[in-house]
Amino acid sequence: MSLSPTSDIAPSQTVAMTEPPRNRRLGLDTVVCHAGRDPSAHFGVVNPPVFHASTILFPTLAALEAKAEQKIRYGRRGTPTTFALEDAVSALEEAAGTVLTPSGANAISTTLLANLEPGDHALIADNVYGPCRHCGNEVLRRFGVEVDFYDPLVGSGIEALIKPNTRLIWMEAPGSLTFEMTDVAAIVAAARPRGIVTVVDNTWSGGVFFKPLTLGVDISVQAGTKYISGHSDLMLGTISCAEGSYERVKAFAQRLGICVGPDDAYLAQRGLRTIAVRMRQHHANALELANWLALRPEVTRIMYPALENDPGHSFWKTHFTGASGLFGFVIRETDRRRLAAMVDGLRLFGMGSSWGGYESLVLPTDPRVLRSATVWSEPGQCMRMHVGLEDVSDLIDDLEKGFERLGR
Ligand SMILES: *Cc1c(COP(=O)(O)O)cnc(C)c1O
Repeated sequence: MSLSPTSDIAPSQTVAMTEPPRNRRLGLDTVVCHAGRDPSAHFGVVNPPVFHASTILFPTLAALEAKAEQKIRYGRRGTPTTFALEDAVSALEEAAGTVLTPSGANAISTTLLANLEPGDHALIADNVYGPCRHCGNEVLRRFGVEVDFYDPLVGSGIEALIKPNTRLIWMEAPGSLTFEMTDVAAIVAAARPRGIVTVVDNTWSGGVFFKPLTLGVDISVQAGTKYISGHSDLMLGTISCAEGSYERVKAFAQRLGICVGPDDAYLAQRGLRTIAVRMRQHHANALELANWLALRPEVTRIMYPALENDPGHSFWKTHFTGASGLFGFVIRETDRRRLAAMVDGLRLFGMGSSWGGYESLVLPTDPRVLRSATVWSEPGQCMRMHVGLEDVSDLIDDLEKGFERLGR
């Protein structure tokens, strides 16, 4: 599997990176190593330092009066630490600019609220991350926004769902828990001529394997908590915008007082340096494990677009350069005691919310409760697996014993 080269570092960056070689597009691995860094601005220190700051002092009355022209003027508005991360994520997502938020859930709510007004209509995919659905149902509706959920497999059929007041279409490719691959290109083709803002939750690909903005999507949102961090030790959201959306989202986030702490921003930019190499290994490990699971008699279905027989495979193959470590699978109907025996005894797979760290996780899920436009009728127990960076043979060993306990 190879990663395709990406464009140059986003030109809108204001914090310089180390001088790139001229007249050549930089490869993605190079971009994530260098974007947003400027050692010469910090005594040659390789990583952007952690600036803990609220007050920024201005030496003279004239400087104070001119502070609106200063990029660094108050802690909440950003520091060299947060600007470095914004620029690096913009380079990764090929975006005009990125707004950082304190969590992925906040990146979702901020993006929705920044782009919708009372009387507007929003279309949200039925397989979105749960809190995105809840934000639509409980927050948007409260503020007078009409919300409809749509079948993620609708493709160009989205046209029939668009109303005169539709202002935003939300996608997640592939979706949470069930991993259907939405035809992002078809939805963009319907939305763009009508001036409808399109958003993709790009957390699954880490921004490494999928570049929604290059397909004409307006905004790519990520839970930086997941693969950007890569180490399960911080909360972060990123909103990466095309030219036409950036100022609006940025200004709105400022009005809400949204900012992230310097230590988390620092850790996230450190995680980002290794994201490309980590993602390739997540892909390789997950593919091996998924192929092993496919041969297990207990497993009735695997939801992973990287597999050839997955319904989303052809879209994935066309628009993605790799697959992450996260996929779903279904095991035959079982009882709670057996399921508990299986998962409680796993030594290498943890159970808990989130994913995207270096370690493997497994989680029983129930997609039925997070749907309204479609019905999840697949019999059996749904599971979500995050395949980490361990030796796959050890993971298989652990799971094999788990399946033995399940069968007892
Ligand atoms: C985890 C997740 C989020 C939310 O991120 P948090 O940082 O946990 O708030 C958003 N979208 C997707 C697809 C996620 O998996």
